[in-house]
Parts: sequence; C-alpha cells; structure tokens
Amino acid sequence: MTETVTAHTKGLYLETFGCQMNVSDSEKIVSLLKGLGYRAVPDPALADLILLNTCSVRAKAESKVYDYLGRYRLRKRQNSRLIIGVGGCVAQQEGERLLKKVPYVDLVFGTHSLHLLPELVRAAERGERRSVTDFIDTETRLNLFPEASDTGELTRFVTIMQGCDNFCSYCIVPYVRGREISRRSAEILAEIREMAGRGVREITLLGQNVNSYGLKSPEELHFADLIREISAIDGIERIRFTTSHSRDISPELIACFAEIPKLCGHIHLPAQSGSDAVLAQMNRGYTRSEYLATVAALRRARPGLAVTGDIIVGFPGETEADYEATLSLLEEVRYADLFSFLYSERPETAAARFPGQLTRTVKQQRLDRLQRRQREITREICDGMVGTVQRVLIEGHSRRGDQLTGRTDANRVVNVAGDPSLIGRMIDVTIIHSYPNSLLGELYREG
Ligand code: SF4
Repeated sequence: MTETVTAHTKGLYLETFGCQMNVSDSEKIVSLLKGLGYRAVPDPALADLILLNTCSVRAKAESKVYDYLGRYRLRKRQNSRLIIGVGGCVAQQEGERLLKKVPYVDLVFGTHSLHLLPELVRAAERGERRSVTDFIDTETRLNLFPEASDTGELTRFVTIMQGCDNFCSYCIVPYVRGREISRRSAEILAEIREMAGRGVREITLLGQNVNSYGLKSPEELHFADLIREISAIDGIERIRFTTSHSRDISPELIACFAEIPKLCGHIHLPAQSGSDAVLAQMNRGYTRSEYLATVAALRRARPGLAVTGDIIVGFPGETEADYEATLSLLEEVRYADLFSFLYSERPETAAARFPGQLTRTVKQQRLDRLQRRQREITREICDGMVGTVQRVLIEGHSRRGDQLTGRTDANRVVNVAGDPSLIGRMIDVTIIHSYPNSLLGELYREG
C-alpha cells in the first residue's frame, strides 16, 4: 500500500493495531487522505503525518499505543511540522484526555469519526489540535467512506456492520464502537460487484458481530440471504466472514455452508470459555453444550469445516474445574487455530468489578498450558493435511519471493512453486509438508 512520495505529495505513516476491522479502517484512511495529497510510506522517518489506528480490547494493546507515541516524541521535537494523530478504540475511549496526556499529539479521531479525518488533518496543518469522538448512530456513517482505490488486490474486506449490543461482561467494544448498526444490503452488494469488476476474487465480510447483520433492520436482507446474493456475483469465488457469535448462528446460515460452495469451509466462532459458570458470568448467552451443538451442526453441513476461536483464560472467579472444562473444549472442538488471551480488566466493563480476580501468575500458567496443547492440536491438524489436495487461491509471491503463496479454503497459508501467471487463479495443490505457520505444496497433477 506504500507509494513513492514526490515533491507534491506528503508522507503518511500508519500503524494499525488490533482486529481486521482496524485493518479495513486503515485502508479507508489511506484512501481518504489521498485527497489531501498524502501517500503511505513504509517508515516514520519519511512521514509528514503519523497516525496510530488503535485497539483497546486488552490493556496490553492499549499500553502499546503509549509506547509507540513515546517513540515519536523525539521526531516531533526535531520536526515541529510533523503531525501525529491517534484514531480507533483508544482514541474513542480517551478523547480529549489523550490531547492532554500526550501534548505532542495533534489530532484524535474516534471510531465513528473516520469521515472527519481530512478536516482534522487540515486543521492540524494549520496548527490546531482537535479531538472528535462523538457517536453517530445511523448506518449512513458506514457509507460515508470513499472506496479504497484500486490496489490490484485479490482479497478485500467489506464492513457490513459495526458495533455490538451484546455487552459481554469483559468487553469494551460496545463502549468504544457503539451500538450495532448494519449497512444497507444494496450498498454492500453494489460495493462487492464493483470490487469483482476490478479483479477481487475473495471477500471477507466484517463486523464485530457479523452474523447478527440485519437483525435490527427488517428492510435489509438477513445475513444468510446476503451471502446467497454475494455468491451469485460473477468473479467472486470465495466468501468469508468474521467475527461470529455462536448464539446468532441461524439454521439458514448453517444451510449456506451446505449449499454454497463459494462460502469457505472455515468459521471463526469464539467460545471464550468451556465452563457454563464462566460463560454465564461472561454474559455470552449460550452454554457449552449449545456451543458444541452449533459446531456439530456446522460440521454436518460442511464436513471438515475448520473452526477457529477465541478463549479468555483467568476470568474473575475461574476455578481449576472451570479451566479444565475449557481445556476439554479444545479436545472436543479441535480448533484449527485459537486466539487465547489472559483476562484483562477493561474500564467501564462489568467484569472489572467482579470479585475473584486471579493473580497474574495463575492466569499466565493456565494460558501457557492451554496454548501448548493448542499448538499440538494445530500441528496434528496440519500434519493430517499432508497428502491431501487443497483448492488454493494464489494471491502473490511468498515472503521469500521464490514461491507463490495463497490460502486454502480453511484459510491456511500454502506456498507452492509455480509460474506467476497462476496469481489470481484457484488451483489444486497437493500438500507435501507442514510447517508451524504454513504448508508447502506442489501443483496437483491428476493420475
Ligand atoms: S459479542 Fe461480546 S465480545 Fe463480541 S464485541 Fe460484542 S460484547 Fe464484545
């Protein structure tokens, strides 16, 4: 996404933290600021504008933002014309306070203020320091952004909803992203048709709670119907979505996995815990057996479906028995990959006030053991793929540059030797070796 900065352009260095929603927002930021003459640069030393697109879902992610800002202090001292801005969830949470805490920050834009960024940057160029963190709770906000320009990419994110109404007791998202809002179906479909027209082959539908898309807007398509409509778009060969809530997996969505080959055989379905007592405390709205029944139904619809998940270890009051229940969930689901975290106390959330907060040592020991076991499971799954033939969308050259790289239906990276003319094509690859983070394949030859 970086380009050469000429005498007429200004350098934008953008650091993105957190989830795919932030990655997608960062693409929009680059696109929005092109209008002001900014072009993305790969090094803060080349920048006239440094922006941090932040995440506050865990305390660690939040403190990282202040570490990064500390690094830019000297740059600002050496170049007073340098503009430094903070956006995303930490910006939403801190607002004006951030301008006070970090006096060399010039602008703060919250999660609902992306469209105001050009105005804030112009103000900063005039020497004004501003913060905008108002919530705009209408879906029009989600359509205010210009299209990310043609980057020649084969895979793109499409935000279809934002915010969350669930208020899981540990989660800061409803406070920093606001209430759930869905975009209009017609606008989503028009955007994807346009993307398909310029060569995009795979789209990932994004939202904090993506499978509750449209539930609050009866005039819009339901999520399953939206997927069906997208699958009918010529040129789109793969559809993914993230993140899903187990409670909102409808029978219609399960049927999509059985009936729509373009819908990839992978779902990210956070469980967060395997213990009913902890799930109730978390306000997740499902029990362990309901979660497992959903996974089983999905796998009946699409045999071999890869399930990835999120687990929080060390939630307040989590007993050894609760923790063991989570470990046994790993064995039952056999997650392809798992994002696991220590419970992290977040401001405003209910769980921050719960009794029974565990010590860091206990939480860390539990996390280490869980992650060790998950690494083994992932390894077993990857080793089991050796010898199989996988359909891979070739996305480009591998990091080392000597091979092509792409992803399987289940979202695993595969490197394969082949002609660059295969980039952009779906090809069959025989897996010949598995590494911790990728698979090695060779072009499939029949017979
Ligand atoms: S579903 Fe729960 S964990 Fe997910 S964003 Fe909403 S409140 Fe947070």
